[in-house]
Parts: sequence; C-alpha cells; structure tokens
Amino acid sequence: MHRVLVSACLLGERVRHNGEHKQSHDSVLHRWLREGRVVPFCPEVAGGLPVPRPAAEIAEAAGGLSVLLGTGRVLDLNARDVSAFFVAGAQQALECARLESIRVAILKEGSPSCGTTFVYDGTFTSRQVPGQGVTAALLRQTGIQVLNEFQFEEADRLLTQLPQERRS
Ligand code: SF4
Repeated sequence: MHRVLVSACLLGERVRHNGEHKQSHDSVLHRWLREGRVVPFCPEVAGGLPVPRPAAEIAEAAGGLSVLLGTGRVLDLNARDVSAFFVAGAQQALECARLESIRVAILKEGSPSCGTTFVYDGTFTSRQVPGQGVTAALLRQTGIQVLNEFQFEEADRLLTQLPQERRS
C-alpha cells in the first residue's frame, strides 16, 4: 500500500508558527488515516524551529527552489535569516519520503516550506505570488507528486495509478 506524506498541521498537530493547526476534514484524508497510509511531517519543526516561532516568508518572492540553490533566503518577521532551518527541514522530509517510498505528498498551501502553487511575497503584507515552498520544491525535484489540501481527490487518483508496491 502506497503511503502519503501529509503536512502535520493538516492532521491537527499544533506545529504552525502561531502554535495552531490547520486540520483538514476531507473524507479522503479520513479514509487514508483508517487505511494507515498517512505519514505526518512538519519540515519546519524537523528542521529545528520551535513552536511558536515568528512567521517567515521567502524574501523577494524568490520561491523555494532559489532557497535550495542558495540564491534566495527565508527571513522571519524579525529579519532573521532562517534559510538553513528550512533547507534542513526539506532534506529531512526527503529522507522520510525515501524511507517510506513516498510517491505522492499533500502539503499545506501557501507555506514557505509546504506551499505548492503559491507562497507569500516576503513583505508580510499577505500578498501571494505564484511559487512553491522549500520542501515542495525539493520533493518535486525527485519526482514526487506534490499536491495541496484542496486536491485530496486528485491525489487519491494518482495513488491508484501507481504500480503496486513489491514486498519481499
Ligand atoms: Fe504545516 Fe508545513 Fe508549516 Fe509545518 S511547515 S506547520 S507542516 S505548513
């Protein structure tokens, strides 16, 4: 059975910067939980950041890939460069994905780690720009299908199209 990496905050874990969660009540997610295929993961906590923590955004709307390449930075509300935590978290997410043979992930939209189609522009003024978070960018580079919390049905379809896992 294929497992799915899911942002921990979507599962009710209070790991967001403000100490809150973003629990999803999607019926597909509930079924996946019953099937035991959900792998919860929070890249920012795994990368060493505490809860709560200052909000952070990718500076100058540069996108997650630029942070991985070292040309972009993630800054928090106090202008502290927290890029290293975000990159470490992304690498740990990838390691977890490898261990669990993950082919599909559902990440929280808009986050500087987990955003899949948009992130915030780095001005802390709620302005969105097209782009992806640092973890989403790294997972996609390895061919993992990264979707968001509005795409559970699509992710479920992708799972059914994957070849069956071989068990030795
Ligand atoms: Fe949720 Fe991802 Fe932010 Fe962690 S890093 S709180 S999993 S959106």
